[in-house]
Amino acid sequence: MRRVVCPGSFDPVTNGHLDIIGRASSLYDEVYVAIGFNRAKPSGLFTIDERIEMLHEVTEQYKNVKVEAFEGLLVNFCKERGIPAIIKGLRAVTDFDYELQMAQMNYGLTEVETLFVATNPLYSFLSSSLIKEVATYGGDVSGLVPETVLRRLTERLAQG
Ligand code: ADP
Repeated sequence: MRRVVCPGSFDPVTNGHLDIIGRASSLYDEVYVAIGFNRAKPSGLFTIDERIEMLHEVTEQYKNVKVEAFEGLLVNFCKERGIPAIIKGLRAVTDFDYELQMAQMNYGLTEVETLFVATNPLYSFLSSSLIKEVATYGGDVSGLVPETVLRRLTERLAQG
């Protein structure tokens, strides 16, 4: 069974994440979408349970995708589940330095490989933080996030 993990904070999941998850789903037998968190320093607009729920809803069509949260090192999550590779979307050169460093560290720690997928140009400017910022000031982010995320984002921001 060929397994891969697609890690991130997914606060919230965007169409850019979904594009990578969908492509990973067609390349691998099993794709773990892993939401990293730190119990001591909880952060973000959505709780981990809400992020899991949204990811379940938007990946329903991919039967080989599992969603889980993890705390601590991603490579430990991989080791526990027998996952030999991490898949990441590369949006622009600005992602590259950090991602290269992480990939080399992760390989050095446990020989887990990192594979980079070139982002769909439709989504290369997209990040969860930019989505939240634009939506906070009333910008239209429909078309950039799935319907269910748009609805929850609008509700959450209306609560102030
Ligand atoms: P953010 O979207 O704020 O960067 P994440 O930590 O959830 O937050 O992103 C996790 C990973 O998902 C990134 O490292 C990248 O590999 C991938 N990703 C995020 N946004 C996109 C996008 N627009 N296109 C392709 N991949 C993306």
